[in-house]
Amino acid sequence: MLTKLESTLSRPQAAGSQWDVIVVGAGVAGSLVSLGLARLGRRILLIERAELPRPKVCGACLNSDAIDGLRRAGVWPSIEAIGGHSLHQYSIRAGTSRAVLSLPGGHAVSRLAMDHVLTKSALTAGAELLTDTAVTICQATSDGDVRTAIDNFGNRYHAKVMIAANGLTSKPVSNLAEEQVVVDADSRIGLGAHWTPDENDRDATMRLAEGVIYMAVGQHGYVGMVLTEGGSVNLAAAVDRSAVQSSGPAGVCDQLLRSCGWDLGNSMLRAGFRGTQTLTRRRALAGGHRLFFAGDSSGYVEPFTGEGMAWAIRAAMAVVPWADASIDAWRTDSPVKWTSELKRLLGKQQRRCRLISKALRHPTLVRHTVRTLSRFPSLGRFAVEQIQRERSTTLQDRWPGNCGPGANGDAA
Ligand SMILES: Cc1cc2nc3c(=O)[nH]c(=O)nc-3n(C[C@H](O)[C@H](O)[C@H](O)COP(=O)(O)OP(=O)(O)OC[C@H]3O[C@@H](n4cnc5c(N)ncnc54)[C@H](O)[C@@H]3O)c2cc1C
Repeated sequence: MLTKLESTLSRPQAAGSQWDVIVVGAGVAGSLVSLGLARLGRRILLIERAELPRPKVCGACLNSDAIDGLRRAGVWPSIEAIGGHSLHQYSIRAGTSRAVLSLPGGHAVSRLAMDHVLTKSALTAGAELLTDTAVTICQATSDGDVRTAIDNFGNRYHAKVMIAANGLTSKPVSNLAEEQVVVDADSRIGLGAHWTPDENDRDATMRLAEGVIYMAVGQHGYVGMVLTEGGSVNLAAAVDRSAVQSSGPAGVCDQLLRSCGWDLGNSMLRAGFRGTQTLTRRRALAGGHRLFFAGDSSGYVEPFTGEGMAWAIRAAMAVVPWADASIDAWRTDSPVKWTSELKRLLGKQQRRCRLISKALRHPTLVRHTVRTLSRFPSLGRFAVEQIQRERSTTLQDRWPGNCGPGANGDAA
């Protein structure tokens, strides 16, 4: 049982201070940014709208790139200690086509427990925390040397730099044209559930093995399942909104699984499902005046390849030196340069993921591909290795900030 993470100060106390950096959102990106900046001795306020720990719709699978980032941040031992399972196999089905591929690495752990560890690490490093507090970052005047966020109770929080790490929620930045996010017209939405089957369920339903990702692909989307710590099942799906409207969240996942010959029985139907906003989105500019976006809030592509956490971790580690340098000397070209930096770090993977997500809209193509993979598993292994292992060498020296934008001659 995880203990509740309480705010470390009251809202009026937080509003009465001037912060070096305010980080909005205590997910993977926000907690890691807070950790990195707090280690540099900066005054950090991490603001989270939910009570912590909080669940998150996610496939709960870390690829080796993500693990590598967490290891370099020094938090991997604590995440490994949660339990979870090393991943070794990927079992994919599309209708009657089936393929089983081996995985070169990865780890399955619940987001409830993992994000709890990350946020606690940020607090241990010295960051302050406000939970249960949703904020909107206010419009900036370009000559201002602080940026302000306001909560639902009217409290105003001030910082030299804001990091928006608020995930897929369309706010928290008030309606600045250049900070708007563009959502793909055919974007799917995310669904997720996490539960521990009881004894009856274990007898009656499909048996999931530890360390295996199960993926069912159908006409209206796909469902992924994995066992996490304590024998709990994590299910995550990306589905057409229209299918959810007609069958409900559990119904659409059940249909997708059954179309591939899998039946989780009543345990899934009883699980509490959560949904997300539309998934595939991009931001022309990943920053604003004294503002940087990091993680899903800077842009996201639907989750088939399971890379979102690796992208969020990379972005979080990369933004630390930018935020650190900006506290003392803001450069007006930082938003444009940070956007280019993100493209360099994530552009290739996100383009590839976008192409795959387009291909997934064609069931016949998917079935043929799965059949080909079952005949030539080495092809599948090669593709999985590319997705799992591709990482940028440029991050190596950038944590927690000894090689910031100034070192490249990019910023003061
Ligand atoms: C269906 C699905 C399956 C996925 N499967 C995988 C997978 O298997 N592997 C993988 O690597 N990635 C996966 N992802 C992607 C992964 O979940 C995200 O990329 C990752 O969580 C992004 O982290 P983040 O910190 O940017 O956002 P989040 O983890 O979403 O954190 C954002 C935080 O901000 C808070 N917040 C939002 N608005 C405000 C506000 N106004 N004020 C204060 N706080 C606010 C939220 O409550 C939340 O805690 C999946 C995603 C989906 C939808």
